Amino acid sequence: GFKCGIVGLPNVGKSTIFNALTSAGAESANYPFCTIEPNVGVVAVPDPRLQALAEIVRPQQVLPTTIEFVDIAGLVRGASKGEGLGNQFLGHIRQVDAVAHVVRCFEDENVVHVDGAVDPLRDVEVIQTELNLADLATVEKRIARIDKQARSGDKEMQRELEVLRRVEAVLNDGRPARAAGLEPEDAARLKELCLITAKPVLYVANVGEDDLPDGNVLVEKLRSQARQENAEVVVICGSIEAEIAELDGTEKEEFLRDLGLESSGLDRMIQAGYRLLGLLTYFTAGVKEVRAWTVPAGCKAPQAAGVIHTDFEKGFIRAEVIAYDDFIRAGGEAGAREKGLMRLEGKDYVVADGDVMHFRFNV
Ligand code: GDP
Repeated sequence: GFKCGIVGLPNVGKSTIFNALTSAGAESANYPFCTIEPNVGVVAVPDPRLQALAEIVRPQQVLPTTIEFVDIAGLVRGASKGEGLGNQFLGHIRQVDAVAHVVRCFEDENVVHVDGAVDPLRDVEVIQTELNLADLATVEKRIARIDKQARSGDKEMQRELEVLRRVEAVLNDGRPARAAGLEPEDAARLKELCLITAKPVLYVANVGEDDLPDGNVLVEKLRSQARQENAEVVVICGSIEAEIAELDGTEKEEFLRDLGLESSGLDRMIQAGYRLLGLLTYFTAGVKEVRAWTVPAGCKAPQAAGVIHTDFEKGFIRAEVIAYDDFIRAGGEAGAREKGLMRLEGKDYVVADGDVMHFRFNV
């Protein structure tokens, strides 16, 4: 599955948010293994399109797609030098596809801040510095390893070395590897290094209840920092989310309305995480189930079919595709067929977000 790691300094609310995420997931998705490991949770991705499809198809069940969140504890000042859970922490964060960086923007004298006072920009910098130093060490180690081969004329190694030097310069400049703006082909050369600062990031501003829904001056500071990085900020209140996660249906809606919120912070965080991963959703809509499936952007029809079952990919013949809007407007599959809105697509078809798909395959 696709993984989003939750990072942040100690005591900023990571575990509170993670626990709320997984208990909300336990309730809203029919997934037996909501917590895979103590620190890994499977979370349903809220998607209003599923409800709209279900109202037309009236299936026996509706299944959302999911992503995984990983609670990554142990990042402290000095982690890149092995302080705290240093290396263990860095190992975990290398495995994720994207990073949700939780930043404390709530004041509470009962909750100690590791650096004495609440200051989101300093916190962000502490974390960024550690991740940066960790990546720099990785890059330098790789440079040392391939330098000789590159000098003895290995073209591939020369090209990789060039890319490494570019990333090294960016990191030395205190900027994340993603700021190097590598072409996909060059980025692919460094894929195995799992550079942490090459992963996309979103900020989660953890505020006090009174500062919902818009945040406070601390969040404003974080927002201006995030703007410079082209990153998104999601404002949430960890302790309230834990309460919201216990509610469902109208109870939840009323509670949210009283707080001036349209959706829970967790829902917004999950959706932001999903966007960050560069994923898209296609649907299958049968009477047994209406279901959302996740594929990477650019995925072709047979690979999309393979997400359901490997046999679908192996025996792929063609896909019947109806765009989501067409499906809704035509009132379902039969209507879409009639209006000529159902397309037959072959193995080179690139799946679009929202496609309602039906696969034909040989067994
Ligand atoms: P972690 O170390 O980052 O995982 O932080 P925790 O989730 O364990 O939270 C640290 C402390 O902050 C706990 O005592 C939480 O109850 C408290 N906390 C978490 N979120 C909030 C919040 O939104 N508001 C307030 N006032 N306290 C919070």
